[in-house]
Amino acid sequence: TTLGTPPDPAVRRRVVEADSLPEALLLRARERPDDTAYVFLADGERPADSTTYRQLDLAARSRAGLLGDHAGRGSSALLMYPAGVEFVRALLGCMYAGVAGAPVPVPTRERGLERIRRIADDAGTSLVLTVAEVRDELLARFGDSPFLAGLRLVATDEAPAARPAAPPTAIDPDAVALLQYTSGSTGDPKGVEVTHANFRANVLETDGLWPCAPDGVLVSWLPHFHDMGMMFGVVLPLWAGAPSYLMAPAAFVRRPGRWLEAISRYRGTHSAAPSFAYELCVREARQQGAAPGVDLSSWRVAANGAEPVRWSVVDEFVRTFAPFGFAGRAMCPGYGLAENTLKATGSRQEDEPTVIWLDDDALRENRVETRRGPGGGAVPLVGAGVPVGETRLRVVDPASGWGVPDGTVGEVWINGPCVASGYHGRPEESREVFRARIVGEPKAGTFLRTGDLGFLRRGELFLTGRLKDVIIRKGRNFYPQDIELSAERSHEGLHPNSVAAFSVDDGTSERLVVVVEADGRVLRDCAPEALRERVRLAVHEGQRLPVDEVVVVRRGALPKTSSGKVQRRACRARYLEDAWSPAGIGGGR
Ligand code: ATP
Ligand code: MG
Repeated sequence: TTLGTPPDPAVRRRVVEADSLPEALLLRARERPDDTAYVFLADGERPADSTTYRQLDLAARSRAGLLGDHAGRGSSALLMYPAGVEFVRALLGCMYAGVAGAPVPVPTRERGLERIRRIADDAGTSLVLTVAEVRDELLARFGDSPFLAGLRLVATDEAPAARPAAPPTAIDPDAVALLQYTSGSTGDPKGVEVTHANFRANVLETDGLWPCAPDGVLVSWLPHFHDMGMMFGVVLPLWAGAPSYLMAPAAFVRRPGRWLEAISRYRGTHSAAPSFAYELCVREARQQGAAPGVDLSSWRVAANGAEPVRWSVVDEFVRTFAPFGFAGRAMCPGYGLAENTLKATGSRQEDEPTVIWLDDDALRENRVETRRGPGGGAVPLVGAGVPVGETRLRVVDPASGWGVPDGTVGEVWINGPCVASGYHGRPEESREVFRARIVGEPKAGTFLRTGDLGFLRRGELFLTGRLKDVIIRKGRNFYPQDIELSAERSHEGLHPNSVAAFSVDDGTSERLVVVVEADGRVLRDCAPEALRERVRLAVHEGQRLPVDEVVVVRRGALPKTSSGKVQRRACRARYLEDAWSPAGIGGGR
């Protein structure tokens, strides 16, 4: 590798010059052909596959040539790849060929295959690019599925194309570069059409907040089929000319320390993850007792987003890893969503994360009253940072459509160059969601409705929860993630993201249900009935809210997205079907 190459001062400016990812690749392939672009770490540790810029360009041409036999410009294809470099080669191949790739996870069970079926339907394609190993596994596992039989599975790592395609000459900035499916936290995943111009704008904004070009080094274990993994593992590094070290999500989950070790070993500067991942690192460090032998001083941007950022986790992570060179400033909370390409706001690299303490009662009535610190019914909230560039945020009353003043909770609306063009094949929903207008402000332009609730304070965004998930009791708002956090804390053996809180309406009244995943270790220590009681008490203490029912289920039983987010609506549906009773351990409920 030639990671030591002194950064070309012109390269940084050139980040701006590339108008698309293929152009960024061609630029790098010309100027730094032999520099490392991507490295895949098998088991999260051993470099197993890698590519330079020149090799990646050639590989993309070859994949584009292969695609030419199967798909035309303007069509789409599913990208079903395990973590690794071949995914990147195929993605660039699609972009070279003008085909919109839709990254999806490799299904291992019926349920996963069903999810792929819905996405293929939605994307309007039967073409699936993958690797030979996955194709063979799929055929062995689901060989009798009629859906699978109807797919065209093409292994891009097998035979090189007979005729490699020429590199693209002119790319339409408004052409769809990627079909980014949302996580599916609140329903079926929706295919967001992300254009080259969207990517460019998002990269520029991200690089503005968290300078990456040209000396950055990315490390990512995030699933590449989600927006955050796509941006931080694949798009940002190539655009910024920074090498990217990739590993499989499973490698991280099995031993979170691998993530920190990779950052330490390769002098990573930028690495992103949701709050739960930082929490897993703290837990592991605690359990081991001893210090992990890592040096985290190179880590400039630890982006923290994709789900609510817990203050306790930020605080503990910084304190746990400060002795290993981790700078408090490096913790950079951010907020993003696929509909805005990814990042919408972020905490600047040079700033410590902002935490404010709020009066809990006022917040339930959508008012923001700050307190000096903890105690007396004050709850912490971590700022999600500021919008930069041309991105503008407004907070709007979701019911009336009027803008609300700063310091009032409402729905977050976004206007700017990162707002994607819409959901694939859903014109009506796209108009409602991507091109909303604020009542009484005809000149303000159109906005993306995020479905997220929050408020602005001194220019910074604070998120309180999702509109669809809010639990309303006697006119007061309760946010499920707060209830879930209280429940999770009722026993130290419970894992992050292992609780779902939702309300059900049985016709006469609203009931609050909390479902808790517990493993054998927890249950040996605490019988289900005792655990249920602990959860009730914890929620009563935390939110002063009576829980009507606590359901204890096996670990792994809660419906979650492939990025690990709890799907509260799916949990509610399963609860209503009574699918957990009496199968849950110890009699379930
Ligand atoms: P779906 O739209 O299919 O229900 P999803 O919204 O989880 O799934 P993504 O686009 O991957 O799919 O995730 C974006 C969402 O993640 C945001 O709308 C927001 O609810 C949540 N999110 C992202 N960053 C933060 C953050 N810093 N704090 C709280 N929530 C966040
Ligand atoms: Mg969403």
